[in-house]
Formats: sequence, structure tokens, C-alpha cells
Amino acid sequence: MTFTPETRSRLQDAAGYIFDMDGTIALGDAQSGGHNALPHAVAVLEALQARGTPFVVFTNGTAKPPAAYAASLRKAGFPVEDWQMLTPSSSTADWLKRQGVGKVRVLGNAGCRAPLDDAGLAVVGPSEEAEGVEAVYTGWFREFDFPALEAACDSLWKGARLLTASNVPFFATANGRAIGASYPINAMLTAMTSKRPRILGKPSRVAFETARLLMGLPRSAAKQMVVVGDDPALEMRMANAVGALSVGMATGIMAGDAILPERDRPSVLLQSLEPLLEIL
Ligand SMILES: [Mg+2]
Repeated sequence: MTFTPETRSRLQDAAGYIFDMDGTIALGDAQSGGHNALPHAVAVLEALQARGTPFVVFTNGTAKPPAAYAASLRKAGFPVEDWQMLTPSSSTADWLKRQGVGKVRVLGNAGCRAPLDDAGLAVVGPSEEAEGVEAVYTGWFREFDFPALEAACDSLWKGARLLTASNVPFFATANGRAIGASYPINAMLTAMTSKRPRILGKPSRVAFETARLLMGLPRSAAKQMVVVGDDPALEMRMANAVGALSVGMATGIMAGDAILPERDRPSVLLQSLEPLLEIL
């Protein structure tokens, strides 16, 4: 694998990197519940750190708080501090603050709501009685039940906005595909209220902007940023929409020979992180 001179300099002189977690730098370990590093991934992050290039890891999962994912990655050898780890709840918390939304009902577990609590938002539980709820946010929530459905519909009928971490039916695990919890919940809420969910995790611009701001980069830096991921509809779409360099990894769910719509196509497709490590 040799990069074109242009790609090579975009990778070497990048203002910042956004990495996906699962299938890109690590894989979940079903036995330990932790993570195992993919080949060269630890060395790539160490090389960026040595160069002084900022990076963050952005997973689209909301089952755990960001700090728990960061701890799991450190255990696997990665130089990732808590502040460098993001989930859709991180970008949702940022967005809600910027929009001036104070009260939000979270249909999600403790890990899903943690970043919203940390941001000082008034978080209402799934089926908690509350008035003045301005937004309903859905994420990882296997405990979903009928009282939560009723409470969320009530908030939405009274004017709350519908927000979601992610809206894909399936995600990949070591044991095959699993149901993305928010997708069927969103489908029920849309059926009942006609409100469509606004996605605030990847591939949304909100997710990208949260990562950019966290790295202290100006708006003008978007095109000098690099996004590395294995899911065309998440990382590649997010990067392409803002003109960042999209680096696709064939180590996860992206098949090398898949025909992708242009918006989901990687600028560069890598079989492993080794070529990136070599030039950093
Ligand atoms: Mg992935």
C-alpha cells in the first residue's frame, strides 16, 4: 500500500484524528467484557501523541459512560485519557447545552445518561413523571418498557423534540449481529407521535463538531482532519460531509469490494493500520 503524495501529506500534517473504536482500533472481547487492540493500533496512537497531533476516539455505543470505554482501552494498552473518549451522549450533551435545552427525558441506561448528568442538564428518568420536558433522547436501553413508552409519548405530544444516539437496526458483535436498542424504540415513538428522531451520534455534523471542539481546533480545520473507521454509513459519511479525509478500515464491517454510494466511500481503504504507522 502506497499513499499518493497528497494523501500522505494530509495524513502526516493532519490537524487532528477521529478514530472509531470497534473494528477500527480494537475489538470487544466477549470473555472479559473488555477490548483487545487490533494490530498496530496502539503504536499509531502513540505515534500521534509523540508528534503532538490531537486525536479522540468516538464510538457510537452508549451502553457505558465514555470514561468506562477509555479505561477499557487503556487496559488494552492505548494512550487514551478520559477526555479523549466520546460517545453519542457526549455530542448530545454538547448540543443540548448549545441549544439551551435544560430538561431532557433519557430513554437509556446509566452509561447512556452519564454525560448528560455530567453536563449539568436536568435529566428525567425513562418513566419518571415530569412536566416541561424539552427533549426525549434515546440510546442503549434494553430495559425499555411500556411505562417508558407512555412517558416518552406524553413528553413528545407536549412539544418535546425527539433525539437519538444512533438509528441503525443492527451492530456487529463477536457473536454476530445484535439489535441496536434505540432503533426499535425510535420506530415506536415515531409511529405514535409522527416525530422523526434527530441523530446526534455519528454520522451527524454535531458529532464531528463535538470532536473538533474537544481537540481545540477551529472550524477552518475540518478539511485538515482525518476520520478513521470501518463503517461506511457512520465514519466515512461523517468525514465526507465536512471534507475531512476518510480512511476506511477493512478490518471491521467494510468489505473491500463493496459498491458504496459516493457519500459513504472512503478516500483511502486500508487492510491494516501498518501503512499509516509507517508514515507517522
Ligand atoms: Mg466500528
